[in-house]
Amino acid sequence: MSFTQLGLTPDLLRAVADSGYTEPTPVQNEAIPLVLAGRDLLAGAQTGTGKTAAFVLPMLQRLHASRVGDWRHIRALVLVPTRELAMQVEESVRTYGIHKRVRSTTIYGGVGFFPQVRAIRSGPEIVVATPGRLLDHVGQGTIDLSRIEILVLDEADRMLDMGFIRDIRKIMALLPARRQNLLFSATFSDEIRRLADGLLDRPAFVQIAARNKPSELIEQVIHPVDRERKRELLSHLVMSRKIDQALVFTRTKHGANRLAEQLERDGIAVAAIHGNKSQPQRIRALADFKAGRVTLLIATEVASRGLDIDALPHVVNYEMPMVPSDYVHRIGRTGRAGIDGMAVSLVCVDEAPLVHQVERLLGRLIPVETIPGFEPNRDIRPEPIRLRTGQGGGRPMGRSRPGGAPRRHVNPAPARSHASVGRWPVASGTSIGGGPRRDTRRSYGRARP
Ligand code: AMP
Repeated sequence: MSFTQLGLTPDLLRAVADSGYTEPTPVQNEAIPLVLAGRDLLAGAQTGTGKTAAFVLPMLQRLHASRVGDWRHIRALVLVPTRELAMQVEESVRTYGIHKRVRSTTIYGGVGFFPQVRAIRSGPEIVVATPGRLLDHVGQGTIDLSRIEILVLDEADRMLDMGFIRDIRKIMALLPARRQNLLFSATFSDEIRRLADGLLDRPAFVQIAARNKPSELIEQVIHPVDRERKRELLSHLVMSRKIDQALVFTRTKHGANRLAEQLERDGIAVAAIHGNKSQPQRIRALADFKAGRVTLLIATEVASRGLDIDALPHVVNYEMPMVPSDYVHRIGRTGRAGIDGMAVSLVCVDEAPLVHQVERLLGRLIPVETIPGFEPNRDIRPEPIRLRTGQGGGRPMGRSRPGGAPRRHVNPAPARSHASVGRWPVASGTSIGGGPRRDTRRSYGRARP
């Protein structure tokens, strides 16, 4: 299904397109029409499934549709377990609500109380809050929750794990009886079910399998390298038999062709597979790769979809993807059918923010291993990433957008709390490669005869 079939208004579709999303995730497909219809919802969906947009988009649409006169009061409340999640959810509200002139704010502990009072007084329509600090505001009489129309409990299981159940119940008691309730949780313990029973009115139920979590069988590694030396490093990894056969991802068709030509000159058997290749050419490339006649198959994101290659030992991200979930799709091509796989990313200083995004999505750091002789030059400064379209001119990072409106950066600053900050020191412009090192003598992937 496409986003246009979900019943969203054009301004929200525009915001979605600006975010670079081309099709809804399963939880978005299922939840958006239900929420738009005003149903209460119980959704089993983990972080990484696209659950935030699944409730933010229809919430924005419903609030907008019923806006009347003076709406300078809080109409929707999203309760979340942590301040990081509060910031992320509110960022999504601002991103998707950009054309709706929606006012929103966050409320969480560990920061000053009075700036929040001022923000509440300015009349936000949507508040994203952690339960404890929200109750502090209730206690001080600085917030009025009596006109809430939509309540969302996001990551409800984590809130219960963190001991927020009493706070949540207190907050629920302050809300008007007539409202729409949405509960998102990765797991369903008895306690969650009890909470859901007391909260939800004849809810629709949506259960989504975890997505964006790569198989445990896939080992991941980042090789920091200067942008001009990536091809040389890839050749080195093949020549030194650290990689015997791999699917290699580039961002553009032009990049795939150029890399294939260069690697051929290095004496490596390669084939490129992308949208400009004819179907017979693609079939032949794939057959050669499967038969082992081709060592590296160079592909773009789109061309790789649906490639059926069993037991692929390596995936190489020659360039990091612009959208973090694409990383998971790419590396999901290895580590299949019980075979150990290896996902290797060749990362230059410009791509540090893209690594941040991916690590945030994965919820963990990817080990860094510098290959001797390819240590990044610390004097090289990051440059904005440009996509080469093959028709000449570059365009700033991202995907094609209808209308040519200014593009939102797909790459928001990573949450400060994330452990990898400092590991990829982007803002300061220092070079990457300062991360933890591993034993570089070890080869990886399959055991070799
Ligand atoms: P969430 O599960 O809401 O934390 O979202 C996980 C990640 O998926 C975020 O980086 C979102 O920006 C991204 N995302 C959400 N919806 C889509 C979509 N339809 N297509 C691609 N990425 C998406």
